[in-house]
Amino acid sequence: MGLREINKFLEDKKFIPSKKMGQNFLVNEKIKKMIVSAAKINKNDWVLEIGPGTGAITSILLTYKIKLVAFELDKRLFSLLEKKYSSYNNFFLVNVDALKINWDDQIHIINSKVDNITLVANLPYSISSLLVFKILNSKIINKAIIMVQKEMADRLAAKVNTKDYNAFSALIQLFLDIKKLFLVDSKNFSPPPKVKSTVIEITKKTLDNSLYTIKEIDRINAFFKLSFLNRRKTLINNLAKTINKKLIIDKLKENNLDLNTRAEQLNPITLVKLMKELNFNYD
Ligand code: SAM
Repeated sequence: MGLREINKFLEDKKFIPSKKMGQNFLVNEKIKKMIVSAAKINKNDWVLEIGPGTGAITSILLTYKIKLVAFELDKRLFSLLEKKYSSYNNFFLVNVDALKINWDDQIHIINSKVDNITLVANLPYSISSLLVFKILNSKIINKAIIMVQKEMADRLAAKVNTKDYNAFSALIQLFLDIKKLFLVDSKNFSPPPKVKSTVIEITKKTLDNSLYTIKEIDRINAFFKLSFLNRRKTLINNLAKTINKKLIIDKLKENNLDLNTRAEQLNPITLVKLMKELNFNYD
């Protein structure tokens, strides 16, 4: 659907886009195609779309003869999509809140053999950080092409020693590679959002399996938050709130790190090494 068709649909159905569900529909054909082509999908691949809306990206995805699973929360849009794509037997639409389900389990209800799936989505921005955590926790998503608010993309992809690099960036970058692909202006949506957007590519890093337990991710999250608690303070001063100061000094010295080091100067791997050496426990 282009801008004219979206507006007609919205008027005919007296459809009021829900702010709560982040309903800003993409209306620029070129951008829809750029998103899909960034996913580099091939015939017969499994693809997951979260929040298909009126089908902006869905219609292009379906031209690839892939197997497409889509999770849409809004019942009104679910009914629209069900009708619109009723002739496709490779389209599996589920009316569900993507935040409340286990994605791998839901996909395995559709086909138990799926072990590799690509996520393509223009997401509601208010839930994008939670969705990134869901990508991290999925064992079958290998790659994601998603649109997020520009500032979120900047934080996710922020390099060490820059103003955007924080505890969240470090945590995500420990597990995922983030690449900013292109900026999208708000005029390409209906209704236009108040913010600019960026399309990003997310791929999984191959890591030591012991890091991938929910408990360990929670521990790393808590340690990173403590390390970045006050950006102006040194790592020692932030960590000393719960860890013995002498132990922190010893470990920094053993790692040849300056005692004035701040968390923003350290990459996620070094932070995790310190967490382990300091026997950090958040309970
Ligand atoms: N992909 C469409 C596009 O590009 O035009 C729609 C994008 S709109 C920004 C976000 C979509 O996600 C809406 O269709 C909205 O109803 C849906 N949505 C919002 N929260 C959701 C959730 N928790 N689970 C599944 N879908 C959700």
